[in-house]
Amino acid sequence: MTPDLPPMDVRGRASRLRGRFPEVGIDALVVTHLPNIRYLTGFTGSAAVLVVGSDDLVFVTDGRYQAQAAEQLAATGIEAVVVVRATQAEQRRALMDAVKPFPRLGLEAHAVTWAQQREWCEAFTTNLLVPTVGEVEALRRVKERGEVERIRYACGIADDALGELLPTLSQQPTEREFALELEVAMRRRGATGTSFPTIVASGPNGAKPHSRPTERPIERRELVVIDFGCVVDGYCSDMTRTVSVGDPGPEARHVWDVVLASQQAGRDAVRAGVTCQAIDSASREVIEAAGLGDRFTHSTGHGVGLEIHEAPRVARTVGDTVAPGYVVTVEPGVYLPGVGGVRIEDTVVVTDEGSNPLTAFPKELVV
Ligand code: ZN
Ligand code: ZN
Repeated sequence: MTPDLPPMDVRGRASRLRGRFPEVGIDALVVTHLPNIRYLTGFTGSAAVLVVGSDDLVFVTDGRYQAQAAEQLAATGIEAVVVVRATQAEQRRALMDAVKPFPRLGLEAHAVTWAQQREWCEAFTTNLLVPTVGEVEALRRVKERGEVERIRYACGIADDALGELLPTLSQQPTEREFALELEVAMRRRGATGTSFPTIVASGPNGAKPHSRPTERPIERRELVVIDFGCVVDGYCSDMTRTVSVGDPGPEARHVWDVVLASQQAGRDAVRAGVTCQAIDSASREVIEAAGLGDRFTHSTGHGVGLEIHEAPRVARTVGDTVAPGYVVTVEPGVYLPGVGGVRIEDTVVVTDEGSNPLTAFPKELVV
């Protein structure tokens, strides 16, 4: 079951991060957001702080992670000073020692709590604390081949699991039963978990974009929104299909056709050099032209990687310009309160030539 996945260059990431320091105006970055620590070191535990200095790494954790940190950092070839301290006070003292050489110290403003900020302000008296936002996340937008292959593998598992489970829809399982079976099918294929709580939203429940599965039996001839994903070696997949067991009627068919055309337009727009805003517009214009613009109540997509929602946002707001290695979703939807909803989503990787889908499950309304 262990997939044969290409290695990742974890070691090279800290030096790419350091390359951003002059522009940001810092001499070191204190990394507290755990997915960022994983990205920079390979560590998967739930407690650590990483100081990325001008030419060294100091990794501070507690006794629970002594062995795991040593193993995981060795496996990625990271050269870091690993400091294991039992209490928070001792960990703070170790951090104070680690940051001493750096006058201007970046903190991840989006990940540091107010309490931490106050505490560190008092502790790091010789440093100027500089709030930074999204510095490691900016690197994470461009995926290495090894990262893309992990996402591709997770997407493949999700495709296969849905293929196995879709025929059981005709037996009228409840939303919860169907979601559970889908999750089990992904785990059986090697996923370590789901990348977010599975959405199975039938009939009127589909009008809520983030509906949670209920005890409602899935009926025939109604729309079912299935939005789900799994995790492989830390990397997430994300896909939505909207289906119906039997013909759901002309109104539902029309809305589904509009969303499919919108999704295709968005996907066609994904290529290096376009803005995320342009991708959002390409999808949104199709839905607006059908008179359903006010029923498309969310942004068109998001980046996917170590986190299910990460940079960039594919939205109406001014944002990133897409580059090769970006992995983003395209997921327009139309939601009719009291009636139901349609969302269709793929995860795609941007290439030198255009983009390739990582999710490949067929898009068919009637199953
Ligand atoms: Zn999704
Ligand atoms: Zn998504």
